Amino acid sequence: MKTQTLSAAEKRLYSVAVVGGGIAGYTAALALKNLRADYIWLGRKPFGDKLLLAEYVRNFPAFVGNGADFAKRLDEQAEKEGLVFTEARIDGIYAGEPFTLTQNGEMLQAKAVILATGVESAGSCKGEGDFIGRGVSYCAVCDGALYKGKTIAAVLSSKEFEEEAEYLAGFAEKVYAFCLYKGASFKAENIVLCEGTPSEIRGGMRVSTLVAGGKEYAVSGVFFLKNSTPPSALAGGLLVENGAVKVEKNMATNLKGLFAAGDVTGRPYQYVKAAGEGLTAAYAASEYVKSLEK
Ligand SMILES: Cc1cc2nc3c(=O)[nH]c(=O)nc-3n(C[C@H](O)[C@H](O)[C@H](O)COP(=O)(O)OP(=O)(O)OC[C@H]3O[C@@H](n4cnc5c(N)ncnc54)[C@H](O)[C@@H]3O)c2cc1C
Repeated sequence: MKTQTLSAAEKRLYSVAVVGGGIAGYTAALALKNLRADYIWLGRKPFGDKLLLAEYVRNFPAFVGNGADFAKRLDEQAEKEGLVFTEARIDGIYAGEPFTLTQNGEMLQAKAVILATGVESAGSCKGEGDFIGRGVSYCAVCDGALYKGKTIAAVLSSKEFEEEAEYLAGFAEKVYAFCLYKGASFKAENIVLCEGTPSEIRGGMRVSTLVAGGKEYAVSGVFFLKNSTPPSALAGGLLVENGAVKVEKNMATNLKGLFAAGDVTGRPYQYVKAAGEGLTAAYAASEYVKSLEK
């Protein structure tokens, strides 16, 4: 399948932007292509990380094989259908008519958005949601400079985020790194590798303490460096209940023009459910855009 970076993509107003490269986002993009809609499909990686992890997929109609085989088949289909994937880690979705989507200062606009960003609980801890925008961040490049000369913590879900932790170390005086995987290594001398899993974030107006492995760390900020950004951190004002984006039957959220599909809307976490919701969201988003033109 053809892929491009966000820098190479046209930064214009699209009818629909799909955010998320997993099966929900893929199905939405495929449906929009078939509907001849004007859309852009954005995500960290085509087909997501989770798909590749499945040892054996036993519950997707007419498919027999593991996750890697599944991804290969999707790639073949995407290629045949002429889909284009735009690599981007979206760090903000600003509601309005139109919506504005950003990544490290680059931006584009869309009349409707389909949020298909999946879920990732790795590293989540008590208080995380309460301090979003008040010391809790998910984007080193966006917020790192705010912590110049300060002591912060970084919770890394996988090795691929070590570069972002190094980036943070370029601003912060000290970075306590909590790595939820084996074999972590850093070049920066001000990164302190810590034991224990973060369990709680405390503070007043802003973050002051991270609790991990029974110890308290005095920090001004905590960066969660993981594959999925929590929806409420991405789109301000989005209604989320028990970690799942609240949706209507047509996948509409409480924000007009913003639809959600897949794991991000809650259980069951399965490909079939994600694919079905992606399709429904694509039709609803397309109808919504048409209604704006009347
Ligand atoms: C080990 C394992 C095995 C599994 N086996 C099965 C199985 O056999 N059968 C089954 O039905 N289900 C299985 N599942 C569940 C299945 O993987 C999920 O239900 C499915 O992947 C959900 O698809 P999704 O598109 O909603 O989310 P995801 O697949 O999680 O895709 C979301 C994508 O969006 C990206 N993203 C997140 N935030 C942003 C952002 N800000 N900007 C850009 N991109 C972003 C993420 O990085 C990810 O690539 C398994 C899951 C795991 C972990």
